[in-house]
Parts: sequence; structure tokens; C-alpha cells
Amino acid sequence: MMLRVVPENSGQLVPLDSAAAGNESRVPLFGLDAAALAGVLAEEGEPSWRADQIIEAIYRQYIRELSSITTLSLDLRQKLAAGGWQIGRPEITKAFQSADGTERYLIQCPGPTAETVETVWMPEGDDGEAGDGSNDEARASNETKDWRRATICVSSQVGCSVNCQFCLTAKLGLQRNLTPGEIAGQVVSVLDRHAVRVGRDRVNLVFMGMGEPFLNYDNFMAAVRLLVHEVGLSPQRMTVSTSGIVPGIERFAQEPSDLRPKLAISLNAPNDEVRAGIMPINRKWPISSVMDAVRRVRLRPHERITFEYVLLGGVTDRPEHAREVARLVRRTGLPAKVNLIAWNPGPGIPYGTPEPANVAAFRKTLGAEGIPAYIRQPRGRDIFAACGQLKRTVEA
Ligand code: SAH
Ligand code: SF4
Repeated sequence: MMLRVVPENSGQLVPLDSAAAGNESRVPLFGLDAAALAGVLAEEGEPSWRADQIIEAIYRQYIRELSSITTLSLDLRQKLAAGGWQIGRPEITKAFQSADGTERYLIQCPGPTAETVETVWMPEGDDGEAGDGSNDEARASNETKDWRRATICVSSQVGCSVNCQFCLTAKLGLQRNLTPGEIAGQVVSVLDRHAVRVGRDRVNLVFMGMGEPFLNYDNFMAAVRLLVHEVGLSPQRMTVSTSGIVPGIERFAQEPSDLRPKLAISLNAPNDEVRAGIMPINRKWPISSVMDAVRRVRLRPHERITFEYVLLGGVTDRPEHAREVARLVRRTGLPAKVNLIAWNPGPGIPYGTPEPANVAAFRKTLGAEGIPAYIRQPRGRDIFAACGQLKRTVEA
């Protein structure tokens, strides 16, 4: 019986016969990097440079069917299909469009389990991740499209185990980790849908969808490598957000700077007491331990750490909280900025949205204390695409 290595770095071997059984159980090429693809081709007796042709086709030209890769001979395409391979890129099965241009997608991953993940497209960005005027140059170009800059919000897990009290995704619990191909596949599916020309169009990625990326660290970083090496995106246009998983931040600090996204920390509270009340993870890794880990990240020139701060009406939005946050951030000694997010409501979550005047005052106080702060405008609230609203409903 022939055996082959299952993709997604599992290192596990499965019998070829079961892989070839039907379309459902075919093994996806999508998710494999250059070395793994070269291995597949070697098995078929093909030279490794053919891997470059497959990479060009699936990651750069967004081709979805093996039979359409015309740079490969018909014979090789048939041989790969007969060997149980398919491209197997995750597919957008449903799209919800917001009045503000935001689109939320349900993306189906091929394979036996029927789960969908959620991905969000925000033309003109999310009004916060750059949020510092660095977009003006992009606004002047690319006039022919209906967007000039866009941000894709990517999920890393189905559900989440962290249990932040204000977040709707938490209600799902953790269903499962996404594979590298499923994480990178969300991005490529959305690039394909909007005919994005990588290298010419300005696209940012934020790993801020469903799930905690640093609790799926290996798959998350393997996806980043695919997106950088094979898809051609810049890690400097990517931001990963963590709720403060200290061992994950420590590993992240060791990543080479040409592969490391920017880092955002979901601070969300002015001190340990308030934070532990809304983010139980704070009991395991209190603010000081998170800050110690963040300090190990060697920042690139002009790079800043982002602290995200969800404003919960009456709970975290008072002026004294802003002064405490400023002190906390100053004490890190790191170049930093704060992104303020007014809490987005979800059913059964016992918080309130903050008064707009309190949001503005919070930002002003931080500014007066010398901390650059930006207010992130909620995007796609009408289609439940805004922060913390993912997986609200399939019917919306
Ligand atoms: N799990 C990671 C990344 C996904 S959450 C993390 O927590 O950092 C992305 C951001 O959305 C986090 O900063 C989180 O605090 C915020 N968020 C969660 N629920 C929200 C809600 N209901 N309204 C506004 N922001 C929310
Ligand atoms: Fe998970 Fe982030 Fe939601 Fe917390 S805010 S439950 S870490 S997705």
C-alpha cells in the first residue's frame, strides 16, 4: 500500500487508497509550501521545479481546479488527480454585504467536517490598524477600483477557548484549530473574489477574526509563511492580535523579522482587577507578565505595538481608566499606540456600548498623556461582521 504525508505539517501518514476514495476525501495541495509540493512531485517522479508552477497557479493566479493548471501537462494533471490530490482551497459559500462596503463570508473548508469559518473584507481598511494617516498616499492611487485600500480580517480557530466575557465568539467554545491551508485559504479566496493584484494593490491582513491565534501557534505561523513566501504578501502589512497568551508571545519574539507580523495585544482594561473580571485568562497571565513577554519582541524601525482596548460602557470607559492605561503603556517603555474599540453588542452579553462622548474623552485623555490613540469605527455591524460579533448567525 502506498503512503503519503498528509499536508498541514501533521507528519502523519495515510494510505493512498483512502485519500483517493472520492472528492470529499481527496488531499488538498492548497496549504503545502514549496518543499512539501516538491515532495509530492518527487513521488510522482517529477522534477522539483514543477512545484513553482503549482505555486504560481494556486497561490498567485488563484486557480481552483487542478484541471485548469495548463502549465502542467495534461498527463501530470491526470496523474495527480488519480493519486488523490485536488487543489482543495477553502471556498466562500455565503457572503453578507454591509451598507458600509464591508463583506462577511462563510468559508467552507473541504473535508469531512462541515464547519465554516468567518472572514471579513473591509474596503478602506478597518479605520484603526493603520489609523495614523499612513494611508494618504494609497488614497491618491488606484482610482479605477471601488476600493483603494482594504483589510482582510482572518480567523485562526473555529470558536475560541479564551472566554472573554464581552465576546460572542467565546460563546461557541473551541470547536477546532484551523490548518495552515484553511487560514491562508481564507485570504486567497478573498483576494480572488476581489481580483486583488498582490504587490500592486494595498491589502492589509489582521488576524483578528474568530479564535486565538497564539493558541494555534504552529498552524498560524505556517499560514503566515505561506502568505509571505508563496502568496507574496508582506508581513509588515499583517497584524496578529492576541488576548495575551504569554508562551505564544515569547515564541513570536523569536520569529525572524522578515516573517513576523506586527503585534497587537488585547489589553481591554486599566488594571489586573478589572481585566480578570472581563478576561479570565488574566488570572493565568496578568498584565505584567504579558508586558514582560512583549518587551522581548525586537521591533523593526518605526514599528509600534498596538494595544487594543474595548470600551465597555461604565466598566472600562471612565477618565481614570484612561489615565491608568496611559501609565501602563508608558511603563512598558515601548513605542506603542492604543486602538479604542467601542463594544459591539451581541445577544446575551451583559454589557453596554459606551457613550460616544466618553469614547472621545478617553482618546483625548490618552493623547494628553502622550499616548497616540485611535478610535476604530465599527465596520459591518449590520451584518454582524464587527469585532467580537463573528459567528452570530448564518441567517443574518
Ligand atoms: N482572540 C484574539 C483576536 C480576535 S478578537 C484577541 O482577543 O486578541 C479581536 C479583537 O476584538 C480583540 O481586541 C477583542 O478584544 C475585540 N473584541 C471582542 N469582542 C468584542 C466586542 N463585542 N466588541 C468590540 N470588540 C470586541
Ligand atoms: Fe477569543 Fe479574542 Fe474573543 Fe477573547 S476576544 S474570546 S481571545 S476571540
